[in-house]
Amino acid sequence: FFATVEQVPGDPILGLTDAYNADTRPTKVNLGVGIYYDESGRIPLLRAVKQIEQQLAAEAKPRGYLPIDGLAAYTSATRELVFGKDSELVAAGRVATTQTVGGSGALRVGAELLAHTLPHATVAISNPSWENHRAVFTAAGFKVVDYTYFDAARHGLDFDGMLADLAKLAPGTTVLLHACCHNPTGADLTEAQWKQVAALLKEHQLFPFIDMAYQGFDKGIAEDGVAVRIVAEAGIDSFIVANSYSKSFSLYGERVGALSVVAADAAQSRAVQSHIKRIIRTIYSSPSTHGAALVAGVLGSTELRAMWEEELGQMRTRIHALRAGLVAKLAELGAPEFAFIQQQAGMFSYSGLSRAQVDTLRDEYGIYAVGTGRICVAALNQGNLDYVAKAVCAVSRS
Ligand code: PMP
Repeated sequence: FFATVEQVPGDPILGLTDAYNADTRPTKVNLGVGIYYDESGRIPLLRAVKQIEQQLAAEAKPRGYLPIDGLAAYTSATRELVFGKDSELVAAGRVATTQTVGGSGALRVGAELLAHTLPHATVAISNPSWENHRAVFTAAGFKVVDYTYFDAARHGLDFDGMLADLAKLAPGTTVLLHACCHNPTGADLTEAQWKQVAALLKEHQLFPFIDMAYQGFDKGIAEDGVAVRIVAEAGIDSFIVANSYSKSFSLYGERVGALSVVAADAAQSRAVQSHIKRIIRTIYSSPSTHGAALVAGVLGSTELRAMWEEELGQMRTRIHALRAGLVAKLAELGAPEFAFIQQQAGMFSYSGLSRAQVDTLRDEYGIYAVGTGRICVAALNQGNLDYVAKAVCAVSRS
């Protein structure tokens, strides 16, 4: 049956980790990952998560199926986190939130929903964007185009280019937006820029699909969710938010995400939710219990929530300190041109290193970065920062 099946290329970023694992040099560093590592180079298990996990283990509850759209305590806590406590949209019953298999699952289920409701659907994604955006929307039947986003020469957002490209899109086009901590560039919009984008989306009748995979990783929970608030306040009647707890709860393998669909009124919202349930029923039937119970347990407890907010704050403060440390070290070594790394947000940075320089970093120093020059700042620590800075300085001079 499979005689004619040909091998397809593997995921380039996951392939990088395989190459890193096979490298025997003790000084090797993996900056290619999309994971937050702590100071000891490990994925943290947050204290708040550990506590709720112990409580749940002690309760030893049976494992029945969850409803198709997930654990109610999880979806309602998520809705509040994503849209804010005082959201008028939530109060009006216009937001249908569904538990999904990670943020990726939210993107795919959201894309399936739109593909059912918008025939000949087109999505515009930023250039560049997280690699999987193109793949997920293509798999759901979308035509994928891109809009200008990054100015490589200035190492920052090309906002005029972005507005100009968005204005050219046909009404009804879906526009995929990164709420914060843009992956892969680290270049985000300011609040004023979000207002301009939201006004443009409304005027041109474009459909916002906001991907929020890093809420709380740059400025704070509410601050990083500002794009959602601004799109809501712009009076756009329907949009989607896909969010993930993989990073903010350090729960990568538990696959905890959610899809929130905003509709024009409560009746539309209920109809949309019925379609989402049908889509999920035919893919994986219902989501898994454990990760959602952890997140709901933490968000639902005053004490654990405060603990989590503090731990999340520590993660973002550490990322900012690592950015500052890398920039200071590079300047000290005579490479002040990397100062822009400190202005970027979240785990990732487009370092400006070329593909050839990335290859040299790997071959000569055992430092692994993505071919585009993307590095994961959260994979740095005090033990490898000097080594990385020296290597980056050396390859940038070669
Ligand atoms: N969107 C973006 C921008 C991401 O970077 C990621 C994770 N790397 C996701 C979505 C998916 O998150 P999850 O791991 O929860 O599926």
